[in-house]
This record gives sequence, structure tokens and C-alpha cells, in this order.
Amino acid sequence: MPPLLPCRAALLQCLRTPVQRVPRAAFLASQRQRRAASTKHPKGFTPPTNDDLEELRERTIEFARREITFDVAQATDHNNEFPNDMWQKMGEAGFLGITADEDYGGVAFGYQAHCVVMEELSRASGSIGLSYAAHSQLCVNQLQLNGTDEQKTKFLPGLTSGEQIGGLAMSEHNAGSDVVSMKTTAKEVDGGYVLNGHKMWITNGPDAHTIIVYAKTDPSAGSKGITAFIVDTSTRGFSCARKLDKLGMRGSNTGEIIIENVFVPTENILGPVNRGVRVLMEGLDLERLVLSAGPLGLMKAALDTTLPYVHERKQFGEPLAHYQFVQGKLADMYTKYRASSAFTYSVARAVDESHDNPSIRTQDCAGAILYAAERATECGMDAIQCLGGMGYMNEMAAGRIMRDAKLYEIGAGTSEVRKLVIGRAFNREFGTR
Ligand SMILES: Cc1cc2nc3c(=O)[nH]c(=O)nc-3n(C[C@H](O)[C@H](O)[C@H](O)COP(=O)(O)OP(=O)(O)OC[C@H]3O[C@@H](n4cnc5c(N)ncnc54)[C@H](O)[C@@H]3O)c2cc1C
Repeated sequence: MPPLLPCRAALLQCLRTPVQRVPRAAFLASQRQRRAASTKHPKGFTPPTNDDLEELRERTIEFARREITFDVAQATDHNNEFPNDMWQKMGEAGFLGITADEDYGGVAFGYQAHCVVMEELSRASGSIGLSYAAHSQLCVNQLQLNGTDEQKTKFLPGLTSGEQIGGLAMSEHNAGSDVVSMKTTAKEVDGGYVLNGHKMWITNGPDAHTIIVYAKTDPSAGSKGITAFIVDTSTRGFSCARKLDKLGMRGSNTGEIIIENVFVPTENILGPVNRGVRVLMEGLDLERLVLSAGPLGLMKAALDTTLPYVHERKQFGEPLAHYQFVQGKLADMYTKYRASSAFTYSVARAVDESHDNPSIRTQDCAGAILYAAERATECGMDAIQCLGGMGYMNEMAAGRIMRDAKLYEIGAGTSEVRKLVIGRAFNREFGTR
């Protein structure tokens, strides 16, 4: 795999070369053939060819080189601030509605394509990649899968263009892994519901205009009493108490949300009342699949950082890359990336190619992110080690990559929970549960 930034000269050359912007309209037109009938894909969807996906990858790499430079990625991390102009740029590029219907501003390109974009954005900046996925997968794709025509017409165009920022709020202080024990309530009133509660660790929470909030409509019914709501964050009573200070994924703004007597009209109920767990769990499978491309990007970034360095730096008269201990680390990093990539894209291809009768295997979605996330943290650690003292310096990307990668062992269900999910899927197959 050629590194994204093989050497400083190539990086400078790439920064000097003006890259032609492909207008969003042209990109949409090129996707116009994709129309179908699937519950998991927009109408008229046809799976992309390998050439389509390669072209998309090239476009995304060009975008990242132009808009998410090393300096932008470093500043996002060091200042713990998301570059908010990025939303509109990603919207213009067509990235924000990869799995959404063209009628609502999407490009109907499917889950392989979503993984490609997620991987290459995360390669440039893990935190921009994470915020991207919270918007395009957790919010936009949930609306695409579960929204009515009216809801999609109202919310998706602003979200896919980047004028509006989206997120999803299910976790609470005391309801993380055991998310269905959430305490946020939704009480039925004339014309809608009144929501009360606290949500924790919400990606894009400090900036979002639209958040999909899960709340208990029937607290006595446990997991069968949860409903999903589309909440306009400008509604009275909705606020972000604080932006959280994190180890990694800095600049992917994470918030603690306070919901105090927030009125949500009936037309903003997402999916059936008291069936929010189905919406949530189905969303989680596809969320884990698309998020597994985040660690792929970070593994590539680790290689991008390490390979040029160990070939340039000499100790004992030889480039570091000529020493077998270093070669062993490079071989492990490369192999971990390739194995994780093969896993993620094979699952995404199966979802796209079964679009008439979608096959989404819970154990495969959980397995893809379980494997990729742990390998990405290892690659981040190896990158630091290969760079020696410079690996420990914040002016290099290695530490940031490692800190960003660790999140993927926690967010969207921890590694331990993913193992439980895989085990339970086997229990169901064997009829023992
Ligand atoms: C940066 C960031 C962004 C996030 N973004 C969002 C978001 O946008 N929306 C949202 O809703 N949530 C979000 N989350 C929340 C995330 O999904 C939770 O943090 C995660 O599910 C873990 O929950 P917890 O933190 O409460 O950990 P806990 O559930 O308290 O777990 C602590 C430890 O115990 C282990 N554990 C728990 N239960 C078991 C068990 N049964 N068996 C074995 N081990 C167990 C866990 O694996 C973990 O190691 C985000 C979190 C972070 C850090």
C-alpha cells in the first residue's frame, strides 16, 4: 500500500497542486442510475462496482489532501475544536448522504461507499472522521431507514447539504453498555410528548441542530417501552451542559445533554412508539459496520506516518527500516490493516449485494469493529515506538492516532459488549436462547 504522504517533497507538491472541485450536482448526476427497492438501501439502489468505489476513494483522498491537511488535523486535536466550515465542504462533496435517497439530497451509494469515505476521512483526522460518522450514519442513516416521507423531506436536505449538523443520543451516565436501562422519559401530552432526562457522551452534541433521542415512553415495560424521537435542539429546554475534555478524538465535540420539559410533536416520532429498541439495535449493527472503517483509516495513517520516517532516519549508519525488529513492526501493522480491511469490506459488500433482501449479520458487524478497533490501537502504539522520541512528541501524528484509535474499543459498544453480542448471536442460531 503506497503511503498517503510518501515524503515531504510529495506532500508539498500535493499541497501546491490545485485540485479541481467536483460539483455536488455532477456527483449526484453520476449516481442517478442507482435506484431500487430495499429496506436498508434507497429505492433503485444497485451495488457500486469496484471501479465506482475506487473513483470514490480517489475523490475522498483528494478532498482530504485539500481540506483536512496535517495542520488542520493537528489543530483540531490540539485546540479540541471541530473546524465547523468542514460540514458545508463535506456536504458539497456529497459525503453527508452517502446512504441516503437522492430525493432527499443523498447519493444512494450504499455501505461499502460509506466505509470508503469514513476510512479516508479518518486517515486524515480520526476526530473529523468520528464526527462525520455520527452525522452521516447515526443521524442521517437512521432517518433514511426509519423516517416517514414527511420526516425525510423536512430533515434530510439540510443534513445532507451540511447546513445542519446531526447526532444521536442514547447513552446516559448510568446507561452505557446497558443502554436500555436509560432513565430519560417521554410523557404523552396533547399533540406530542414531553421529554426529560440527561444524555452523556453525545458526539456533535455541542453543535448539532438535529439529534435522534431515545426515551422511555413506557418505563414499566423495560426495553419494550423505548421510543426514538427527532429532536430540534433549538427547542426550549434542550441544552448542552458542557463539552467534554477527552483523551483522544479531540475536536470531535462530545457533549453532555440536558433535556428539561422538551416538547416533541407527534410528527417527530421516529419509527413505532415503544419499538425504539428495534430501531436502536438495527441501527447499531450498521453503525458498527460503518464505524469499523474509522480504525482502518487510523491504521493507514499509522503507516503513512511510520513508513517514510523509518526509511529516512538512520541510526548506526543504516535506515531504521533495515533493522529486523522495525521490519517486524511494519509487517504486523500492514498485515493488521489488510486483514481488518478485508473483514470490513466483505461485510459491507454482503449488505450492499443482498439489497433486495438485506443480510445484516450482527456477529459480522460487531466482529468487524471489534477486530479493527483493537488492531488500530496496536498500530498506533507501534507507530509511536518506531518513531522513538519523536513518536512521543505531539508535533507528530503518532500519539494522536493511538489516542483516537482507543475510542473505537469503547464507542458504539465496548469490545467486551461486542464479544457478548457475537456470543448471543450464536446462542440464537443454536436455539439455546
Ligand atoms: C468519545 C465518545 C463518543 C460517544 N458518542 C456517543 C454518541 O454519539 N451517542 C451515544 O449515545 N453514546 C455515545 N458514546 C457512549 C458510548 O457508547 C459508551 O461510552 C459505551 O457504550 C460504554 O458505556 P459506558 O461508558 O457507560 O461504560 P460501562 O458500561 O460502564 O462499561 C465499563 C467497562 O465495563 C465493561 N462491561 C460493561 N458491562 C459488561 C458486561 N456485561 N460484561 C463484561 N464487561 C462489561 C465494559 O466493556 C467496559 O470495559 C460515546 C462515548 C465516547 C467515549
